[in-house]
This record gives sequence, C-alpha cells and structure tokens, in this order.
Amino acid sequence: MSTAAHSPPDAARQIQFLRKVQRILEEGHFTATYKFALVHALADLAVQYGDDSGGPLHLPVRAIAERFVELYWRQVAPWPAIEMGTARPPVLAQNTGRQAAVVRMVREARSDFGDRLDRLRARDGEWEALATSVDQTIRKMPLFKLQKVGREPADEFLYPHRLKGRGADATIELRPGIAFCFRTFHPLVLDLVRGSWIRFIRKLNPELLGERTDLGEFLFGAQRSTLEAVRVPLADLQDGSCFYCHRELGRQVHVDHFIPWSRYPVDLGHNFVVAHDRCNSAKSDHLSALRHLENWGLRNEKYSYELPRIFRETGTANDISLSRGITRWAYRQVEDRKGLVWVKGRQLIPLESGWEELIDAA
Ligand SMILES: [Zn+2]
Repeated sequence: MSTAAHSPPDAARQIQFLRKVQRILEEGHFTATYKFALVHALADLAVQYGDDSGGPLHLPVRAIAERFVELYWRQVAPWPAIEMGTARPPVLAQNTGRQAAVVRMVREARSDFGDRLDRLRARDGEWEALATSVDQTIRKMPLFKLQKVGREPADEFLYPHRLKGRGADATIELRPGIAFCFRTFHPLVLDLVRGSWIRFIRKLNPELLGERTDLGEFLFGAQRSTLEAVRVPLADLQDGSCFYCHRELGRQVHVDHFIPWSRYPVDLGHNFVVAHDRCNSAKSDHLSALRHLENWGLRNEKYSYELPRIFRETGTANDISLSRGITRWAYRQVEDRKGLVWVKGRQLIPLESGWEELIDAA
C-alpha cells in the first residue's frame, strides 16, 4: 500500500504524533468509550496491515468494525459483582447516558454465544450482520469525531475525514507516517489507551467497582475459551512435549502466546504453542531466542495442513501471513531497541541476527 517515495517520519514528527494522540485521549469530547476502542483498533490494524516504509495506509472501515466487536466482546461480559441479588447480572456502563449502541449490539450477540466469539464468527450470516451494523454505527460515531478536541476545528492528523470507496469496501486513509508511528509506538499507545479506558469506566461505574483492582484484567485479558479449545489438539501435535524445553508436558499444559499477548493482544491460531507453566512464566513478556523462532517456523511448515484444520474445528481465527507479519513486526521492535530475547529459565540474550530469514521461511 506504500510507495518508495515515502520515508519514515523524523523524530520531531514522531513526538508530535504522540502528543496529539495523548491529547485526544485526555481531552477529546466524548461521552462513550468509543474513542479508546478506535485508537486501539487503528494501532492494531497498522501492525496487521501496515509496513515501516512511512507511506499512507488504507484501512477498511469493516476491519475497524470487527476490531470493535473483538474489543467489546470481552467487556460486555457480566461484571463479576459479589452479590447484587439482581435478576440480571450487571454489565459495565461504557457511556454517560444510555448504553453506547455498539455495546448494546455486541452484548446482544454475546447473550447468544457467551464467551465464544469464535462460534459467532463461524456463523457467516450472523457475524456479517453484526459487523455490518457496527460498521454503519462507527461511520456516524466515532470515526469522524475522534480528531476533534474542544471547540477547535478537527485536526485531521491521523486520517482525512472522508471515506474512499463505498459500502462494505469503504476505507479511510492513514496519512503518511501514521502507520509507521502506530507500529513503532504500539505498546505505548495501548498503555495510554487502556489506562484512559480503565479510568473512564471507573468513573462511570463507581458502585459496581468500588476498590476492585482487577478491572484491567477483566477488560483486556486474553479470551480464555479460545486458549482452552486449542490446548489438547496442540499438545497432541507436539507429541505431548513442551514447545520450549522439549520435555514431557505431563499434566501442566499451558497455551502460550508465542508473540506475548502483552506485546500484541490478538488470538491468532499460529501464535499458539503449548508449554509447561514454568517455561511459560519464565518466558513471560519476552520474545523467544532464534532457536525457538526457528522451531516455530518448522512447526508451521511441517503442520501446514493439520494446523488450519485444528483452527477450523476449534473456531480459532488464523492467518499464517498475518501471524508472520506480526512476528516480523515484534522482532523488529526488539532489534530497534536492542532488546533481549528469552532462551530458557532466566537466561536472556541479545537478539541474534538472522531472525528475518527464519520468519520469511516460516
Ligand atoms: Zn518446558
């Protein structure tokens, strides 16, 4: 989507991007949590669809809508309140007035499918209908309100306020340099967004929340049901041994995000491996050393038929080229920051060279 004529934004423009995003989150004129969902979605999609050339990026509004559904799906689960004694378990308010429209739509869908977003996805008609309604709603709000702060005219620094294309194919165009910045600062942007989102929800739901501290986990944790569904089939595929240390798994089989959830919070099938709890905790939020990356590639290649079948049967979203793209992005981040990668136990080493070739081969 980019051309050779572009180059990455310089440091001054990158800082300016961060200041403006921060300002939107702090001051934007909003009564619902949509703006948080939208910035979150833009950052995620820039990683999925973009590159680091500094060029512009067309993003389908439909893809933004689907990301909204994924983000809110978890959040509209009944809040685990201690007592209530109410007939209907409480759902956290996401709006100062009436519950936000997208939240109502997602909540309704969730009442039929519970935690299993994957099951809804497998029903083409229903998934299509929900994504289309959300798509139409966000075109009215918040897509063209996000960049308006206070009484000033909108500062359209992220994307111009107009759609390209029509109907289900409509896109917005991120300006040159914006996808680059979202990709470079993805962890920072997500921290900003989530922190603001959590504070906003706290303010809206004082009675329900009190002093509870697990709100962040509730709002943004991984979808446990997806992880659970792939656990046994992946363990079988790995012959019952740990992906990292190759020893027998025994009973402690943990589904690990190869690219840690904290770095890129999307559940895509190829990103799952099974490992010991202790290997998983030791790896923590680190990327893996090259030996593991190589094994990940070999696994994907060796089971290029079985993996998609497992994902299909368990309703797990998957796309190997997308997973490769996210993996490449994540390793580049570590390389740019001269970060460390995990080998085993407490052993961390500088990222070795040759990771790009391994991912391309995966
Ligand atoms: Zn292990």
